[in-house]
Amino acid sequence: MDLSKLRVKGDRLRNTLEEMAKIGATPGGGVNRLALSDEDKQARNLFLSWLREINLEIMIDEVGNIFGRRSGKNNSLAPVLSGSHIDSQPKGGRFDGILGVLGALEVLRTIQENHLETLRPVMIVNWTNEEGTRFSPALAGSGVWAEKLDRDWIYARADIQGKKIGEELERIGYRGKQPAQKWPVHAYYELHIEQGPILEKEGKIIGIPAGIVSLHWFDVYVEGKSNQVGPTPMEGRNDALCAAAEMILKVNELPAKMGGNMVATVGEIHNFPNSRNIIPGRVHFTVDIRSWDDDLPGRAWAELKKDFEKIAKKRGCPLRIEETWSVKRVSFNERLVQRVKETAEKLGFPSLPMVSGAGQDAGYISQVAPTAMIFVPSIDGRSHVEVEETKWEDCTAGTNVLLHCILQSAMEE
Ligand SMILES: [Zn+2]
Repeated sequence: MDLSKLRVKGDRLRNTLEEMAKIGATPGGGVNRLALSDEDKQARNLFLSWLREINLEIMIDEVGNIFGRRSGKNNSLAPVLSGSHIDSQPKGGRFDGILGVLGALEVLRTIQENHLETLRPVMIVNWTNEEGTRFSPALAGSGVWAEKLDRDWIYARADIQGKKIGEELERIGYRGKQPAQKWPVHAYYELHIEQGPILEKEGKIIGIPAGIVSLHWFDVYVEGKSNQVGPTPMEGRNDALCAAAEMILKVNELPAKMGGNMVATVGEIHNFPNSRNIIPGRVHFTVDIRSWDDDLPGRAWAELKKDFEKIAKKRGCPLRIEETWSVKRVSFNERLVQRVKETAEKLGFPSLPMVSGAGQDAGYISQVAPTAMIFVPSIDGRSHVEVEETKWEDCTAGTNVLLHCILQSAMEE
């Protein structure tokens, strides 16, 4: 058969996504499938049943990553791997993660029903705890598999109720036997929603990320002096919240000031004692800086720190800063990125080179195997919310690009 004419079945993909979205469905039209919850278990069970339907060989590793494998002509060659994550945010959407898993499933169904013989095995994966919302850190399953995170350390990570990953894996029946460690992969492709507004704004259907931006997390503690609000005059106050407010605006102004490709955000703030009639005595807030440029965040942070210190001095509110976490930028495999671009072109989909502003399992995998991602537009650029939406035709388009990328890699010597 003429392979270039081969297409996935968009209706089947949609039905599969809709069936999955019933698990943990929220009244607002999203899903709640926290990692290793009962909903995650139910979703995994359904996923496994679909893998069995097409006779994939199933492997579950020690951290609950699920793999399905379809043999090739030469099974001593490293497989082509594709997938993403089934878990979601507490009130997450129906596309983040799961599109990459069920898109890969649709590709395998298409290969199977057309009785295609690939040279290399083709494998699908669901990575455990990508979101990092119930258990920190995020990207746990792919991180352990890529041997960048320690398995036993991950087992011991607890949720807010003190339940540990190791125990919860056991409880839902997904603590597998297979060692959670990398093996040779010829190519890894991950289909994912963009989670931003750029593709929609530019009128493109396929986004081709060159990699994932670097990420820098800081924790800032501002020390003021608490006092009764009524009797204490305005002069001479050491209001930690006012100091923090000024600092937060500096964070917001930072990207425009620095120029270049960067975003900076304060997303979390704790005010103590948080009482309407006490002057705030202490504030803790977080700073998140992301950039595709390697040295920009360092320069930006140095500027920001100077501003913070000035504000702290002016308001008499001493400052303590922790540099909590930092991840270097990830560049995907140029050859595979180019393949995604050419495949989108061949299939007639307008595409756009970009970078991923969000962390991805593909980030860890790219450190141990050639990796590329395929983005499809998010309507209004919304994600991690119930109204997260991607057009069905765009889901199908991305899955067709995935199909042809996988086929090319799977036919390679
Ligand atoms: Zn995701």
